[in-house]
Amino acid sequence: MSESLDSLGWIDGELESLAARDLARKLRVRGGPQSARIDLDGRELISFAANDYLGLAGDRRLTGAVAAALAGGWGAGSSPLVSGRGRLTAELELRLAQFEGTEAALVFSSGFAANAGSIAALAGRGDAVYSDELNHASIVDGCRLSRAEVHVYPHADCERLQEILSQGQAYRRRLIVSDGLFSMGGDLAPLGELARLARRYGAMLLVDEAHATGVFGRLGRGVSEHFGIEHDVAVRVGTLSKALGGIGGFVCGSRRLIEWLVNKARPYVFSTAPPDAAAAAAMAALQIVQNEPERRLALLAQAAKCRGRLEAQGWRVGASASQIIPLLVGEPARAVALSESLIRRGLAVPAIRPPTVPAGQSLLRISLSWVHTPAMIERLVDALAAEAGKGGRGEGEKGGREDASATGLPSGG
Ligand code: PMP
Repeated sequence: MSESLDSLGWIDGELESLAARDLARKLRVRGGPQSARIDLDGRELISFAANDYLGLAGDRRLTGAVAAALAGGWGAGSSPLVSGRGRLTAELELRLAQFEGTEAALVFSSGFAANAGSIAALAGRGDAVYSDELNHASIVDGCRLSRAEVHVYPHADCERLQEILSQGQAYRRRLIVSDGLFSMGGDLAPLGELARLARRYGAMLLVDEAHATGVFGRLGRGVSEHFGIEHDVAVRVGTLSKALGGIGGFVCGSRRLIEWLVNKARPYVFSTAPPDAAAAAAMAALQIVQNEPERRLALLAQAAKCRGRLEAQGWRVGASASQIIPLLVGEPARAVALSESLIRRGLAVPAIRPPTVPAGQSLLRISLSWVHTPAMIERLVDALAAEAGKGGRGEGEKGGREDASATGLPSGG
C-alpha cells in the first residue's frame, strides 16, 4: 500500500463507526430523467425524494432551451470577473429581478454558494449573525466562514431571538438569517416577526427561499411574499435547482447589495461562472412559473390533503405546512428501516438522519411534486397505513431494524 493511501487508513474506522450508528450514506445511480417515476439502481420506483416540486426538471421546454443555448457553446471558461458571465446569464439576472420585484439579482453556481458567499460577505469580525438552529448547512457554513459572532437561536423561537438581540449592542453590523421554508420540517419561518425584530434592532434580514421559490406567494416569489414582508428582506436567496428544475443559485435585492456581492462574495469571485445553458433553462422555468400558477396551487392543495390523511393514520408530521411532509420517527435505524420497507413497496422516500437533522429527530422526508398523480399519492398513503399497522411510526418502541443491510436512501438536503 502506498504511503499516501496508508495515511488515510483512519477513514476505515470512521466509516465503520458511521455504519454502526446507522449514519452511513450510500450513493445510488438514477437512470433516465428525474420525474415522478425514477429508475434507482435499476429498480423502478415512484419517487417522493426530489425537490422538483413543479415537475420542471424533465420538462421539454427546459431541455429545448438548453439544447438551443448549447449552440452558443458550453463552458464559461473562468470566473465571471475574469472573462465575463454569459449573455444569457446576464439576461436571467434581469428576469430574476423582474420576477422577484427587486432592483437587481446575481446568479451563483449553486444555492449553497449563494448562501455561504452572501453571509460571509455581509458579516465579518466585529459583527453578529443570528441563525435559526435548523437552518440549512449552507447557512451554517456561511456563518462559520464569516468569522462574525454567531448566535444560534432555538427553532423559530422569536422570543428567545429578541432576548439575544437585546443583549450585546456593541456590534458593528447585525444579520438575521433564516430558511423561509425549512427543508426538512416543511414548516414556514415566522418571517413577520423576524422582519419586525430586524427593523427594531437595525439588523439586515436574509431569507433563503430555496424550497419556496415557485411554490409560495401569489406570484411564486416565496414565503416572504406569502407573509407580505418582501420589502423587509434585504437579502433574498433562492436556488434554480428545486422548483425551477435546473442548477444554480441566486441572490436578489438592491443594486448596492449586488455590487457588494460581486466584489466580496468569495464563491462568486473565485469560482467559474455557470454555463449559459443553465441560465436558458432557468429562464424557461421562470416563464412556466409565471404562466402556470395552477401548478403551485394544485401542489399545495394536494400536500394539505396528503398531510391530513397521514396525520389521521397517527404519523407525526410536526409543523409542516407545505409540500415537504416529514414523518418524525426519531432514531436513525427506524428511519432507515422504514425507507427500506417503502423501497420494497416501490416507493422512494429518503431517510433523513443526523447531521442533516439533530440527534433523535430522524425522519422520512416526503417531497410532493405537481407531477405526482392522485393514484401515486394513494399508493404512498396506503403503504404508510400498512407500515403504521406494523408499528413503523416508532412511538414508544425500541428502535430496531428489519434488515441489517439496510442503509436507506442517501440523505442530503
Ligand atoms: N438552501 C436550502 C434550504 C437547501 O435545502 C439547499 C439544497 N438542499 C440549498 C440552500 C442549496 O441549494 P443548491 O442545491 O442549489 O446548492
